[in-house]
Amino acid sequence: MAVESEVAKALQFIEEVTRNTDPTQQKVLAEILSQNAQTEYLKRFELNGATDRDTFKSKVPVVTYEDLQPDIQRIANGDRSPIFSSHPISEFLTSSGTSAGERKLMPTISAEMDRRQLLYSLLMPVMSQFVSGLDKGKALHFLFIKAETKTPGGLVARPVLTSYYKSEQFRKRPFDPYNVLTSPNEAILCQDSFQSMYTQMLCGLIMRHQVLRVGAVFASGLLRAIRFLQLNWQQLAHDIKTGTLNPSITDPSIKQCMSNILQPDPDLADFITNECSGDNWERIIVRIWPNTKYLDVIVTGAMAQYIPTLDYYSGGLPKPCTMYASSECFFGLNLKPMSDPSDVSYTILPNMGYFEFLPHDDSNPITLSKDSPPRLVDLADVELGKFYELIITTYSGLCRYRVGDILQVTGFHNSDPEFRFVRRKNVLLSIDADKTDEAELQKAIENASELLKEFNTSVVEYTSYADTKSIPGHYVIYWELLMKDSSYRPTSQVLNQCCLVMEESLNSVYRQGRVADNSIGPLEIRVVKNGTFEELMDYAISRGASINQYKVPRCVSFTPIMELLDSRVVSVHFSPAAPHWTPERRR
Ligand code: AMP
Repeated sequence: MAVESEVAKALQFIEEVTRNTDPTQQKVLAEILSQNAQTEYLKRFELNGATDRDTFKSKVPVVTYEDLQPDIQRIANGDRSPIFSSHPISEFLTSSGTSAGERKLMPTISAEMDRRQLLYSLLMPVMSQFVSGLDKGKALHFLFIKAETKTPGGLVARPVLTSYYKSEQFRKRPFDPYNVLTSPNEAILCQDSFQSMYTQMLCGLIMRHQVLRVGAVFASGLLRAIRFLQLNWQQLAHDIKTGTLNPSITDPSIKQCMSNILQPDPDLADFITNECSGDNWERIIVRIWPNTKYLDVIVTGAMAQYIPTLDYYSGGLPKPCTMYASSECFFGLNLKPMSDPSDVSYTILPNMGYFEFLPHDDSNPITLSKDSPPRLVDLADVELGKFYELIITTYSGLCRYRVGDILQVTGFHNSDPEFRFVRRKNVLLSIDADKTDEAELQKAIENASELLKEFNTSVVEYTSYADTKSIPGHYVIYWELLMKDSSYRPTSQVLNQCCLVMEESLNSVYRQGRVADNSIGPLEIRVVKNGTFEELMDYAISRGASINQYKVPRCVSFTPIMELLDSRVVSVHFSPAAPHWTPERRR
């Protein structure tokens, strides 16, 4: 009964805030502006205590991370004065977006943790409207923490989910029958990704009949778990057969907690051996966890590329994308979670922050001028079908900050708009959390080309492709080379080395994926025959592209183009080693 009333309360809360979108937004803005009135940042714009929308919009500029970077660096260096927020900065959240090759640092305040927790608390009440019995079992949810560092001024810097899993709100969460995980906290909180994954998988196998949903934050994470099972099922089955823990698991708290969970179970070990030893892994998720009702993963945005593989392993289980969030702010949730991935929309909750929308048109981008801030559209005023870039103002003190996400309005829940996530601006390649843009790829190619100079060779054209057919996926770069002296060509070894130089040039999120998380495979260069890129142009023109305006696409995914490129490949090269990565920032 108590649980039912919690669910009803959560649903009622959603109804209330979505019926009062505009008043809630006005209230949120007034709260943020009065709370932060005495901050250095807001004082610069001479709001003089005003907390109304008109003054705010006319005086405060729309900004990017680069605009705020000098002030953020002061906080990182130890300046404790109220720069963005009147509340002390509790830590930095490291976004997967990068600036000059390093993760962006987002200052946050401790009250934001409660706001994040509030959004999490709404997810299962929404799901339980569509799927019954979710309080009668467990979730096999692969959750991981990542390395954290300290800034020169002593503040912790870590990803938002690491911060959340380490928080009291998560570690000491009260029992909630809708949110019982098979993974013990000890496994989730172990920084060694092998030990963490191994233990979480082992627990998932032991409790396989109780598992009602299987997931990870993003689709790529769940596929990594399946790949892990492919590589480690023998040892896992051995542990289950004998009731002893793999000696590679050395974390004392994991060992302690597994001594209560792991018992010899030869029947289960035989079952796992039977299912995993064959070549056929189709529907493996429902074979091992037969009561799974859905996959709890995000498959919108860059993750859409994983849908066919997830369908293969799960026999097409539903993939509700429950929430839309970022390090800067948690935005909202999907109120119709059982819809097809292509129809997923997120309702931005008006109590999470103050949201504005910059109309977006790919063919006619708006240039923002600092002197006359553009009139942005408010959450309650966006129009059905239109595209917008999301601009946020948060309790932590970000004001009119461009997140970089492009959204399209697909409908309304009460007075609150629902948005389709269209894409992140300027992302060319993405396998996991990495987001590589055109400029980074160009720079990486320039650096790698240095190795070709002594062979009198240059890269005349290139394009790229995120290959997610293998797990983990990897970047593929197609190169057309110009060799001035065909008797002195770059050797295969040199071209392999070019792959590594490219990897070294890519941002720290990419390199962390390669080194610490194992979520990205070695970069591949495919050298194509001379004239291939001209053929590519001919193909585009035959399909209606203008010859004057034709530009080589720097990333491709369209099958006929891929087939054309692959049929012209003359040699293939892979990065021979992992690039350099440590949790420490380069600057
Ligand atoms: P981060 O800054 O690392 O926290 O990443 C936040 C970004 O991840 C967002 O700004 C989006 O670009 C992307 N993202 C988060 N949630 C979703 C979602 N449900 N669907 C698609 N992309 C998402």
